Amino acid sequence: MRRKLAAGNWKMNGTNASLAEVQILTRNHPAPSVDLLICPPATLIVQAAALTADSPLEIGAQDCHAAAAGAHTGDISAVMLAEAGARAVILGHSERRQDHDESSALVSAKTQAAWASGLTAVVCLGETLAQREAAQTLDIIADQLDASLPDGATGTNTVIAYEPIWAIGTGLTPSTAQIAEVHDFLRRRLADRFGEDRADTIRLLYGGSVKPSNAMEIFATSNVDGALVGGASLKAADFSPIVKALEDCAATP
Ligand code: PEP
Repeated sequence: MRRKLAAGNWKMNGTNASLAEVQILTRNHPAPSVDLLICPPATLIVQAAALTADSPLEIGAQDCHAAAAGAHTGDISAVMLAEAGARAVILGHSERRQDHDESSALVSAKTQAAWASGLTAVVCLGETLAQREAAQTLDIIADQLDASLPDGATGTNTVIAYEPIWAIGTGLTPSTAQIAEVHDFLRRRLADRFGEDRADTIRLLYGGSVKPSNAMEIFATSNVDGALVGGASLKAADFSPIVKALEDCAATP
């Protein structure tokens, strides 16, 4: 049985004052029946990890370099993130793939680096609107999955997030049939590569304009094990109802 996961990606949002939201989340969810992860900007990881030390809420990062150390001005290694208190790292987010020209090969190298430091890699995949309209979604997803994921992926070290680029921050979401098509496809492709037993342990998150009003419907969709949430993770008042919807879904046989 895969434990469900609600993950928040704060992106380049959040200053010291935002740590109050983390505190509210720890109070709102002292014993959640799902896993909780918040990925604030790197500047807040140490403080957020300290605030959540006695809470089931885990803190993650939003990117890492593929190397452990070296001459890479401005970058942060997985070793450093783990030492700061991160337990996971988002990799291959479409904003990194687009803004920083990151390839799936680089995402794979970063995933290896994350694993080497004991971090869970949250590997993101997703098609553009043009690719969806050209009926290329499953081909794009297959290519990204195959090339972004190293051979050692397990349910412990890896989470996959399907994030259609056209749904991120737009208020648009795919239909649940479209989400199910991709998530079922991902599950089958993982099984073809790793065998069914291992594939069954790897959680598949949906990401893209998840909010309290649509969370339940998305969580009830085939092979959706939770969500990677951007905008609606910034405020506990928005994220907590999403967590509650996921808990309700987990409790439904
Ligand atoms: C994201 O950036 O990972 C994301 C899903 O953003 P939003 O929820 O704001 O669409």
